[in-house]
Amino acid sequence: MRNNLNSLYELQEIDLRIDGLDGEKGQLLAEAQALESRLAEAREKIAARREEAAALDAEKGGLEASLAAESENIVRSESHLKEIKTQKEYQAVSKEISGAKKLIAELEDQILQKINALEELTGDIAKKQADLAELEANVAAQQGEVQQRVASLEAGIAADAAAREETVKGLPASVMKRYARLRDQRKGVAVVEAKEGNCMGCNMHLPPQLYNTLFRADDVITCPHCQRILVMRQEG
Ligand SMILES: [Zn+2]
Repeated sequence: MRNNLNSLYELQEIDLRIDGLDGEKGQLLAEAQALESRLAEAREKIAARREEAAALDAEKGGLEASLAAESENIVRSESHLKEIKTQKEYQAVSKEISGAKKLIAELEDQILQKINALEELTGDIAKKQADLAELEANVAAQQGEVQQRVASLEAGIAADAAAREETVKGLPASVMKRYARLRDQRKGVAVVEAKEGNCMGCNMHLPPQLYNTLFRADDVITCPHCQRILVMRQEG
């Protein structure tokens, strides 16, 4: 049993190490994910601005078409003026022309506003694009680092997994089952040291009789408070 308990304690140490490495790896992957999200967000903002610019451009195009149509109207009306015989008709066409001219002035004003807004947008897009390029370079460097660290963590995990397999070989299935269940129930810690009369898992005092049986170690003994498997570690 002593050998089994030592193996169990070893197994627990390996598993905690693997848990730690897995946790670190998870954190790194989350960081990598967050970096990707930042990139995606920046790209989406640029795409949205581009859409705004396209919409503005279309509006400007519409205004320009209206302006062209009004200009044609004026040309037509002005040539019409020459053929007019009555004062009344002349006045009506003149009124049309001045109305069209007023409209053209308004359209020109609106087009100018669109041009200004477009210029502003284009500048903003260029700035965002430059920021994105910088961010992309930054993220690429950071992702490279993350990948390296993840690879080294994975190498550590693989080495521990091999050691774990060896350790598990020497343990009875019933003990492994118990160990696995306890790990699930006790935040990954199934095996703890008993030291100076206390359980190192829950820090509660162990009944002296139970503590004494630990020295014999002829059975798997669990803490009456936290149910973890107790082992006595002999120094040296
Ligand atoms: Zn305990």
